[in-house]
Amino acid sequence: MTKNGWRKIRNQTLTAMSCLLMLNSLAQKVPDKIVILTFDDGCVSHYTYVAPLLKKYGFGATFFVCEFPGYPDSTKYMSWKQIQQLFREGFEIGNHTGHHTNINQLSPDSLREELAFVNRHCDTEWIPKPINFAYPAYVTDSSNLDVLRTMGIHSARTGGERAYHPATDNPMYVPSFTPGDNLQKTIDAIRQAKDGAVAVLTIHGVPDSAHPWVTTSPAVFEAALQYLRKYHYRVWSMRDLQEYLDKAGSIEK
Ligand SMILES: [Zn+2]
Repeated sequence: MTKNGWRKIRNQTLTAMSCLLMLNSLAQKVPDKIVILTFDDGCVSHYTYVAPLLKKYGFGATFFVCEFPGYPDSTKYMSWKQIQQLFREGFEIGNHTGHHTNINQLSPDSLREELAFVNRHCDTEWIPKPINFAYPAYVTDSSNLDVLRTMGIHSARTGGERAYHPATDNPMYVPSFTPGDNLQKTIDAIRQAKDGAVAVLTIHGVPDSAHPWVTTSPAVFEAALQYLRKYHYRVWSMRDLQEYLDKAGSIEK
């Protein structure tokens, strides 16, 4: 083999090794036992029950909000004033489209308008423009990623029933677990927060009077919070995780 041939192979090997080291160091930046709680659909129980309980435990969370037909039915959904209160109490508000529309059914302009609908309400309520998005019904659409990005979305959560690996997963497709009203499934999901993986949970109303098929009972929810506290999990919003990763990245540099 020629000298140049060897040099090429050596350079390729070094590039591959440095990529692996980079991935490895990012994986190491995520400690075990980080759980992200996300709550979808602007259910009124998020305001009346979930947030006060999370505060009691000192846990963070992201609330992905939208308006459903029937809004503002105060027996089912939060008002924008109540959403503002969640923000003032330290929780993150995320965008779930204005009207819970699957994004593969939207043109780029309609998706922009759906995102802007939530942004305008946030602006009126002095809530920062959401940087995190949750796909309605977990339906993703790669042709619309640029719209999400240009509207200021940093990461987007979907379903998938698996843990999130920040070192290797695309942040525009953050996977999550939806354990519903099943405590064992919730605990099984939580326990996957290790080895560079973060457990992201998607929860709807506790209970969910608007969509009972995705409800979680207060008993199951509180048992899950007790489990998280007992085993010393860190419970964050999506924004908390991003800030942590950014900080870890800048220390590394
Ligand atoms: Zn939803």
